[in-house]
Amino acid sequence: MEFVPVIGLEVHAQLKTRTKIFCSCSTRFGAPPNTHVCPVCLGMPGVLPVLNQTVVEFAMRMALATNCRIAPESRFARKNYFYPDLPKGYQISQYELPIAEHGRVYITRPDGSKKRIGLTRIHMEEDAGKLIHDPDRAVSYVDYNRTGVPLIEIVSEPDIESPEEAGAYLRQLRAIVRYLGISDGNMEEGSFRCDANVSVRPEDSQTLGTRTELKNLNSFKFVEKALAYEIERQIGVLAENGEVVQETRLWDTAKNRTVSMRGKEEAHDYRYFQDPDLVPLKIDEAWIGRIKSDLPELPDARKDRFMDQYGLPAYDADVLTGARELADYFEACAQAVNNPKLVSNWIMGSLLGLLNAEGKSIEETPISARQMAELLKLIDDEVISGKIAKTVFDEMVASGKTPKAIVEEKGLVQVTDQSAIEVVVDKVIADCPDEVAAYQAGKKKLLGFFVGRVMKETQGKANPQMVNTLLKKKLG
Ligand code: ADP
Ligand code: MG
Ligand code: ZN
Repeated sequence: MEFVPVIGLEVHAQLKTRTKIFCSCSTRFGAPPNTHVCPVCLGMPGVLPVLNQTVVEFAMRMALATNCRIAPESRFARKNYFYPDLPKGYQISQYELPIAEHGRVYITRPDGSKKRIGLTRIHMEEDAGKLIHDPDRAVSYVDYNRTGVPLIEIVSEPDIESPEEAGAYLRQLRAIVRYLGISDGNMEEGSFRCDANVSVRPEDSQTLGTRTELKNLNSFKFVEKALAYEIERQIGVLAENGEVVQETRLWDTAKNRTVSMRGKEEAHDYRYFQDPDLVPLKIDEAWIGRIKSDLPELPDARKDRFMDQYGLPAYDADVLTGARELADYFEACAQAVNNPKLVSNWIMGSLLGLLNAEGKSIEETPISARQMAELLKLIDDEVISGKIAKTVFDEMVASGKTPKAIVEEKGLVQVTDQSAIEVVVDKVIADCPDEVAAYQAGKKKLLGFFVGRVMKETQGKANPQMVNTLLKKKLG
């Protein structure tokens, strides 16, 4: 029997507001422990929370960007549980009436087609503090700076059908929060977290199987690996007529497997109830309209525009719009050089290759868009060949010099003087009588050999089209 995976993700994004969700403490990361705290976020008796308007507006931005319906009235509830990182003994979160529901985002499949992933809901809540365990002694410390930092939780429908789709969905959400400027979206640093729910069902059945929930997934790679492992594990259980147990499992990064953390019986009863200290949140159409008019162009729309305006393939458009800064970089180059596919190839190949190898983001690029455009202009105007351009690119990275300076200094200008190329072509033909005979006897593949020889003789500077044409003419 064939099984299909069913995946639904719960994503927490930390919001980049200046202050916390219910008090005016700073959210700045990296301050000495317990310096950004006050009676409200420490949960002292008798204090009153006051909702931060920017948190609401950031949540509204996300809701509108993902085509959610914003509730005219939503509520905050208390989620009760005991843990040392939660001084109040409850977390304020939205439960029955979240700020937004019924949204969708689109992911791009490897073949370029789009797939819709439904969003069940988006709600606002506060973060808990952080426990720090002493590696040398049986002691733990608690830092309440993060207590009360705003989060949004984005819950997907179980529309995701493979670990790769889960990865694509997360990248899409991350791109959206970054375009919106509401979160850093950094998984490794914990400002973007994901719990993955996964089950498998027989291909011919629409009934969902029993799911497990995976935690401790702090990189895209771990999400995909943990899901792949868990899908195989569940299929294995079912293939032997066993039963999948509903439980929470942790990804063990050292052993590359998931391990059971707690079963359904041990699941918390949070005893939710409406927080009596907070009034219902009312959002009218006028407010929604103001937030809507302020939204930037989003990744999906920008992707479509890149395909229309620049004629790029879906794959290129998807990669280039994955980050706002990368898309800006592309557009800056594409405006200077009227050859979008050339620009795209160089950014996706050489530039992203370099950045990936060095673990850098586009913001840290050693080559500015202006310098890149200058290099691409030299190629497009046929001043240098693509091959020489690679050398120039490497030299730009190494020395920080401009492409023009490098080309001049090293005498790399392409030879487009026909008579000069002809001299070399004639020499190569005279030097290789055996190959010439073989070519003329029908071994046409040898053309590449002759081209290679001419390029070598000219240190790669001869115009390749001219070399090809001349060789064909002379070899007959
Ligand atoms: P909980 O409140 O326990 O977290 P929810 O019903 O809110 O449960 O679902 C949480 C996530 O689990 C959602 O993203 C949803 O799409 C997903 N989900 C629900 N049922 C299944 C299932 N059978 N298989 C895979 N994912 C599921
Ligand atoms: Mg859950
Ligand atoms: Zn505070």
